[in-house]
Amino acid sequence: MATKRDYYEVLGVAKTASGEEIKKAYRKVAIKFHPDKNPDDPTAEDKFKEAAEAYEILSNDDKRARYDRFGHQSGNGGGAQNMEDIFSQFGDIFGGGGFEGFFGGQGRGGQGGRRVKKGSNLRIKLKLDLEEVANGVEKKIKVKRYVACQPCSGTGAKNGTDLKDCGTCHGQGQVKRVVNTMLGQMVSASTCPTCHGEGKIVSSKCDTCHGEGRQLHEEVIPINIPAGVAEGMQLSMNGKGNYPERGGMPGDLLIQIEEEPHELLKRDGNNIMFEQYISFVDAALGASIEVPTIEGKVKIKVDPGTQPGKILRLRGKGIKDLNGYGRGDQLIHLSVWTPKNVSSEERELLEKLRNAQNFTPNPGKNEKGFFEKVKEYFQ
Ligand SMILES: [Zn+2]
Ligand SMILES: [Zn+2]
Repeated sequence: MATKRDYYEVLGVAKTASGEEIKKAYRKVAIKFHPDKNPDDPTAEDKFKEAAEAYEILSNDDKRARYDRFGHQSGNGGGAQNMEDIFSQFGDIFGGGGFEGFFGGQGRGGQGGRRVKKGSNLRIKLKLDLEEVANGVEKKIKVKRYVACQPCSGTGAKNGTDLKDCGTCHGQGQVKRVVNTMLGQMVSASTCPTCHGEGKIVSSKCDTCHGEGRQLHEEVIPINIPAGVAEGMQLSMNGKGNYPERGGMPGDLLIQIEEEPHELLKRDGNNIMFEQYISFVDAALGASIEVPTIEGKVKIKVDPGTQPGKILRLRGKGIKDLNGYGRGDQLIHLSVWTPKNVSSEERELLEKLRNAQNFTPNPGKNEKGFFEKVKEYFQ
């Protein structure tokens, strides 16, 4: 066999390419070299297979990491795949209809082709505090999931020779029946009763997994949570769910976000709300006060003559937008604290102020009354 080309070169992507870029690149190459599109080019099928092999490795985080370290010696397998496998394995990236749908129905294998089994999804809930929501965070999560059994490579068979195509359906997983009806002959396909749709029969079971083809495995999975997520949102990691019994594609890991409420700060969209009480002395004379933010304490200035209900804005101290549209603000609602109990000394001071000229409210002279504020709010 000729020496293998570098997988990144095969797909024409950089070593730093993201999963999405790799998928796009593979899609392009596969369409270009699809054998049905290149009937006169005998090398097309090889190039098509080469691309599928490269994609199989580079689309899987573990296999890709091994390949990056050890190259083609990484023992990742791959190679010598038959066309059917390629179609069923990667068909989904060509859209809902698979290859068949994509290439206009003139597909291979027809409708009876064995469908790739997908394992079940794993669901976890992830609690995040406000700081983590605001800035994004990488979490390492311990999950128990089914992975392919190592000794039997997920087939469930003791040896390679213990795995045979099902005799009833000839590996198709489906049996077709021709039924005569008043309208003529109809073909109905149903799941093969012998192999239950798997297409393969295991004659001697693997000792490790007892024929299941998978094992429970505890794993720590790093998850990058983008900034700006919100309660109830669901993130999904492809292929990090359970591996199905005896081969197929693993399901996904679904992560449901839960927000832990902050003691003092409240979230409103991408903004943070905070209510700050000040004494009426500070409101009258002005003051410099400290308020909490998601990045720690910040000093703000209260102007002399501040009325209760005033809202101050700390620009850019809110939550990063999930779609990258900047960052929210922190809004500080100033309330004036009225003492509930006063000492006799304080009472004396307050009594002196009671009738002082500037301590008598004059509604007509207020900057903004309650009604104006309400109107403004609803505008
Ligand atoms: Zn069968
Ligand atoms: Zn096994």
